[in-house]
Amino acid sequence: MSDRIADIYGTRTPHARGTAWPARVDQYLDPGIDDADVDTWVQSACLLCSNGCGVDIAVKDGRMVGVRGRASDVVNHGRLGPKGLYGSTGWANAADRLTRPLVRAGGRLVETDWETAMGRIVERSKQLLDEKGPLSHGFYTSGQLFLEEYYTLAVIGKAGLGTPHMDGNTRLCTATSAAAFKESFGADGQPGSYTDIEHCDAVFLYGHNMPETQTVLWARILDRTRGADPPRIVCVDPRRTLVAMEAERTGGVHLAPRVGTNLALMNGLTRELFEHDWVDEAWVAQHTLGVDDLREVVSPYTPEHVAEICGVPADDVRRAARIFGESEAVLSTVLQGFYQSHQATAASVAVHNLHLLRGMIGRPGAGILQMNGQPTAQNNRECGADGDLPGFRNWDNPAHVQELADAWDIDPMTIPHWAPPTHAMQIFSYAETGSIELLWISATNPAVSMPESARIRRILGGDQCFVVVQDLFLTETAELADVVLPAAGWGEKTGCFTNVNRTVHLSEKAVDPPGEARSDLDIFLMYADAMGFTNESGDPLIGWRSPEEAFEAWAAITRGRPVDYTGLSYAKLRGPTGIPWPVNEEHPQGTDRLYADAVFPTDTDYCETFGHDLVTGGTVTETEHRAMNPAGRAFLKGAPYTPAHELPSDDYPLLYTTGRTVYHFHTRTKTGRSRDLNDAAPDAWVELSQADADERGITEGDWVRVESPRGAIEVRARVGNVMTGAVFAPFHYGHWEPETAPDSGADQPEGHRDASHRLANELTMTVWDPVSKQPTFKTAACQVTRTRDGDGPAPAPTTADSVTPTSSRREVRATAGGSPTSSRVLPDVPHYPLDPAQGGR
Ligand code: SF4
Repeated sequence: MSDRIADIYGTRTPHARGTAWPARVDQYLDPGIDDADVDTWVQSACLLCSNGCGVDIAVKDGRMVGVRGRASDVVNHGRLGPKGLYGSTGWANAADRLTRPLVRAGGRLVETDWETAMGRIVERSKQLLDEKGPLSHGFYTSGQLFLEEYYTLAVIGKAGLGTPHMDGNTRLCTATSAAAFKESFGADGQPGSYTDIEHCDAVFLYGHNMPETQTVLWARILDRTRGADPPRIVCVDPRRTLVAMEAERTGGVHLAPRVGTNLALMNGLTRELFEHDWVDEAWVAQHTLGVDDLREVVSPYTPEHVAEICGVPADDVRRAARIFGESEAVLSTVLQGFYQSHQATAASVAVHNLHLLRGMIGRPGAGILQMNGQPTAQNNRECGADGDLPGFRNWDNPAHVQELADAWDIDPMTIPHWAPPTHAMQIFSYAETGSIELLWISATNPAVSMPESARIRRILGGDQCFVVVQDLFLTETAELADVVLPAAGWGEKTGCFTNVNRTVHLSEKAVDPPGEARSDLDIFLMYADAMGFTNESGDPLIGWRSPEEAFEAWAAITRGRPVDYTGLSYAKLRGPTGIPWPVNEEHPQGTDRLYADAVFPTDTDYCETFGHDLVTGGTVTETEHRAMNPAGRAFLKGAPYTPAHELPSDDYPLLYTTGRTVYHFHTRTKTGRSRDLNDAAPDAWVELSQADADERGITEGDWVRVESPRGAIEVRARVGNVMTGAVFAPFHYGHWEPETAPDSGADQPEGHRDASHRLANELTMTVWDPVSKQPTFKTAACQVTRTRDGDGPAPAPTTADSVTPTSSRREVRATAGGSPTSSRVLPDVPHYPLDPAQGGR
């Protein structure tokens, strides 16, 4: 295997349209370990992005020492990317793992035992229930727990406590995906499949920087674009990303709309389909509702009008629309560039509209992938730990509530369903004002990841709310908690998770967790036991003790719902590959893509939502929904473009946007503890255009102050790769850095750095999309000023989208399969070597 820090996507294995993606097993073992040293390989799937690549974990002497891809897995055919290879296991043995519970005493967190820590939580919880009721409790969870843990937490929250205040960090990442599905198709659920890559003749990537976010999926696309009969690529992104370069190379189009104008562009593309009769009228008449309203909404968006709003050439709008209109099978993928914007759901629904207008759904190649960012975000949404009801049930449908009450043997009035579930942004507002007085945060780091960080620090660190954090490390969030619970991580516990295209994997326990750390499931069970939650029969509310029992309880409750797990079991998941739901008697081997029959879950009695107005977020009532008689037809919904909440001004003339980059995942809790990954991207930076840099006297590597009305950061500048007027910042960096970890082997600087110096969310806003409630990380006004000279290029990688004409190759340390002191040089991209068997190097 090549050095996968320098060669992110591995060697190319081109293949023709309609042929299988070749398998190749990628593997990493810690330096000094080879195959013969491995005691055992344990089945799992990678937990470092939403792709969900099948892996086996290498175990030696009770420690995780590496991973290899599973060649038989439908998701990755053995491939792994840099994060999966170098970031999956190293964190587990870090000396700064939490191994004992901590409680705050005298203003400090001090070690204690489980009984004391849980006792404090239960005492506060019971007191609040007695005095203030269940609305005093809030839960903020993750996209990285297991299905069994989410479901258990959901039952505790909805049936034990009765609080609607439960959400996940999926609100920051994938809420729009779920919301868009519900609006168009009646329920959450990914229509498409990764196998659509093998069959499509065009790929549209909307705000989806796949080369940085899902590297293995991008490798799968590259193997098509390098093969016979390649698809054309269309890229919608304000940066000239690798996707944009591939669009140029394949005869596609790079559309670079001004930040915050996605919906205007989408309306323009939709109008072109109508104008050129690229609409399957018969299919639309039979399988959709709302075409006339949609035609009217998009009618003002001529290519020239779109050009004015978006700054995109009118002819490029025409070219992109023609590719969509004349292709036989388009695969569309969507991610945060659309989701984290002020009209997120409307823009994402517009992608569905394009497919529906062409009748292009449910057949090979004609896929929609509303992507997730996190590996288990899908489970959070399915199980109801994001506040929704489990099994894609509708909180506004009494029959759905009754189904759950029957299954849990409780009074249906205990289940909060008098109003929509509380979204994360509102949960933090309630915690800020003291309405929520107990906030329990599991496996996420909002002190770094939530918008307007200074406010989040004030909320978490204030006296108005008792904060519980369960995590692997003393994160920036855990440092502010009242009680910290040490959790077992991936490979240290058993459970299932479902990737972005509905593929369910079983992840088996490979090693014991360190010290007294416990699985998140065991922690939730401990709380439920201590609280004494019971059902109507007087039995314990939570009737399971093990992950497998929890899975079986979950599967049972999905019967008859779109997300049907009833045909799955741990035994079945121990087979060669993950399996995409629904899996049931009708589909015992799973379902590669949904809606092959063009029947959508929109029936009023079956759907997950009655829908919303895409402009205001106002809810559609059951009566209104029933009057439309959707009866299995999909909704075509449109909305006019409106400007973003915060536009450039004299004081803040640039638009600030944030995003994920290739070597790190979220707030680096795991990837920052991989020396390979961290050395490749060790510190924060911002990217600005050459013109904006020249205007401010900024050159590559200079230190700059980036300021918005809410805060400022000071980082080094990468010059060249964003459109003029835009500033891009990676969101990964808080104040923790590996040099402060006791086992780093590096010189130990004194203490932690100031949290605000490089934290991208110091600048972002507390505003959200009206339907999905996803915060708008992609638009804020800012100013950039030069503060001092740098000492070389910015610490940005040169291997992916941060490469610029002015960046230079950077030498970093390497440990992968070699000496810990060796070094590698990051190449300038694009760097797509061919597999030797295909005639390459
Ligand atoms: S693409 Fe995602 S799931 Fe696959 S190896 Fe990389 S980080 Fe892991």
